[in-house]
Amino acid sequence: MSSKQVPVVDYLVLGDEPHLKAHECTGCGARFFDRRNACAGCSGTEFRDVPIATKGEVRAFTIVSLAAPGIKVPFVAAVVDCAGTSVRGNIIDTEPDADHVRLGMNVQLTTYSLGADDSGAEAIGFAFQPA
Ligand SMILES: [Zn+2]
Repeated sequence: MSSKQVPVVDYLVLGDEPHLKAHECTGCGARFFDRRNACAGCSGTEFRDVPIATKGEVRAFTIVSLAAPGIKVPFVAAVVDCAGTSVRGNIIDTEPDADHVRLGMNVQLTTYSLGADDSGAEAIGFAFQPA
């Protein structure tokens, strides 16, 4: 049987159809992935959870070639426009170079294991892959 899976960020929803969720301001519609006490746009304090589209377009990216020890480089860090919501994430399952990653390319959300702890709980992260 599968072991317990734990998302590495609390806005990653696992299950049959993994997706991200955001807190959306009910006043102005601004979306935030972290928890807010008040909206940066309108100072509203009411939020609701909304699912984020799992497909998007690369709006910006950089190829990271230097990172902390233990982090495999190079990798592609990107900003992906998911149906109007900007999401920061890495692009995986492609060569990390400018011949394979382009502005405007279509990508989709994917999840991957970051490893398990001693109790067998598996940490799950998210990234984007070419669609
Ligand atoms: Zn607002």
